[in-house]
Amino acid sequence: MPSSIPETTQSAPLTVLIIGGGLSGLTLAHELTRLQSTTAAGSSSSSSLKWHLVESQNYLGGRIKNDEATNRIDMGGAWIWPSQHKIHSLVNGLKLGTIAQRDAQDGRVRICNGAARIIDGLAAGLNGECVTLSTAAISVERMNHVVKVVLLQQSTETNVHQQHHMVYTKHLVWTAPPQMTLAPYIHWNPPLSDSKIMAMKQCNTWMASVTKLSFIYDRKYWDVQWIMEMKRGIYFYGDAEAFDIYDACIEDCSDNHADKKEEEGNDGNIYAFTLFALVNWDQQESSTPTNDDGIANRIMGQLHSIASSSRMISQSSTTSKWMTQYNSYSIQHWPQVSSISHEAHPTSVGSHPRPNPVLSESEWKSSPNDSNGEERRGCMVHFAGTESDLYSPGLMEGAVGSAFRVVEEMKRYLE
Ligand SMILES: Cc1cc2nc3c(=O)[nH]c(=O)nc-3n(C[C@H](O)[C@H](O)[C@H](O)COP(=O)(O)OP(=O)(O)OC[C@H]3O[C@@H](n4cnc5c(N)ncnc54)[C@H](O)[C@@H]3O)c2cc1C
Repeated sequence: MPSSIPETTQSAPLTVLIIGGGLSGLTLAHELTRLQSTTAAGSSSSSSLKWHLVESQNYLGGRIKNDEATNRIDMGGAWIWPSQHKIHSLVNGLKLGTIAQRDAQDGRVRICNGAARIIDGLAAGLNGECVTLSTAAISVERMNHVVKVVLLQQSTETNVHQQHHMVYTKHLVWTAPPQMTLAPYIHWNPPLSDSKIMAMKQCNTWMASVTKLSFIYDRKYWDVQWIMEMKRGIYFYGDAEAFDIYDACIEDCSDNHADKKEEEGNDGNIYAFTLFALVNWDQQESSTPTNDDGIANRIMGQLHSIASSSRMISQSSTTSKWMTQYNSYSIQHWPQVSSISHEAHPTSVGSHPRPNPVLSESEWKSSPNDSNGEERRGCMVHFAGTESDLYSPGLMEGAVGSAFRVVEEMKRYLE
C-alpha cells in the first residue's frame, strides 16, 4: 500500500490524522470511510472529511500478525470470546470464519487462517492513498486551532534514508500503546496532562513482553487431552520459558481451502501448536542478531522434558518420538518490536491492564472562549488503542471499542 503523505498547511489541514495502523487505527479508518460514504451525498463537511493514517512499522496490524511462512498462524492476538460483541460483529461483517478452541472451555474461537485476515479485510476497504507505512510520529504540537505533527519516514527501499514531513490536522487520534506515547523520542508541546502521563506510565502494554512460538508438523500427533496435560505440566514446571500452550491447527477453513490444497500439495490443513514464552534473554550467547534456532531448540527441549515426565503426561512414551521432529517453526518476539514494546528484554509478562478513564480522555480541548463556531473544533487529540478502552482493555475487543468511542467523540464536530 505505497502512498505519500498529504500536503497540508495550517490553514488547510487534514480533518483526522491517525497514528498507528493496528486494529484500533484501522477500525477507525474503516469507520471514517463509512462516514464519508454515508454522508457524502448530503453533507458538505463530511464529504470533505480528509483522513490519513501513518504506521511506523512496514506492515499493518500492530499486535495482530500471522507467521511469515504460511501466513495462516496467529503470532499475536488470536482469540475472541463469546461476549465480545464488537469484534464478533466486525468479524461477521468481514465474512470471516472462526475455529473453536477446543482445549479451552470458555467458548473462545480463533479466526480461520489467522487474525491477520481481520487486518486484511479492514485494509481492503480503505483508500490505499490514505495509509502510509514505515512512518512514525515524533513530534506533536498545538498551534492555535490545529495540531502540527512531525513524521519521520523510513525509506522502504534502503531502510537507511529518512525523511521528515510536517502534517497539520484538526483532530489527531493517537492509537499507539500508552508506554510508547511516552517514548523519549516523541515530543509533546504542550506536554500531556500530568494525570495522563501518570496513567500511561502505569499501564502495561498487554502481551508486549511475550514471544510466540509455533511448531509445525506434517500431521496432528496430539489431541485435546495432550494439550490440556501439557498446560498443567508447563504450569507446574517452574523453569520452562513457555508458560502456556494451545492447539493452533487450522482445519476445515472454507475460504481458499481448495486453492491452498493445490498450492501446498497436501490436504491444506496446518498442524501446529503454539507456545507463549517469556524468553530468558540471559541465556542468549548474543542477543543481536537473535538466535531463533537456539531459542526454539531450547524451548522445545524444556517442553520435551515436561512431556517425557510420565507423572504429567499420559502419552509420554509416544510423545518423545514425534515431538522434536517438527517440519518448521515460526517465532515472533514482541519485545523486539520497538514501536510496541518499550522493553527489549523483559523479565515478566506484566499485569493485564485495567479500565482507566484517564487513558480515554482527549486532550487539548478548545478553550471555552472560542467563538464564531470555534466550538465545533472540539478536542484536538483523542486517544484510542486497546489500553484506553473502558470495557476490554488489552484485548482486540478493546481495540475496536476504543475506535468506536473516538468516532462518536469526533462525530459531532465532523457532521
Ligand atoms: C502475543 C499476543 C497475544 C495476544 N492474544 C490476544 C488474544 O488472544 N485475544 C485478544 O483479544 N487480544 C490478544 N492480544 C492483544 C491484541 O493483539 C491487542 O489488544 C490489539 O491487537 C491491539 O490493537 P491496537 O491497535 O490497540 O494496538 P497495536 O496493535 O499495538 O497498534 C498500535 C500501532 O501503533 C504503531 N505505532 C506506535 N508508535 C507509533 C508512532 N510514534 N507513529 C506511528 N505508529 C506508531 C505500532 O507500530 C502499532 O502498529 C495479544 C497480543 C499479543 C502481542
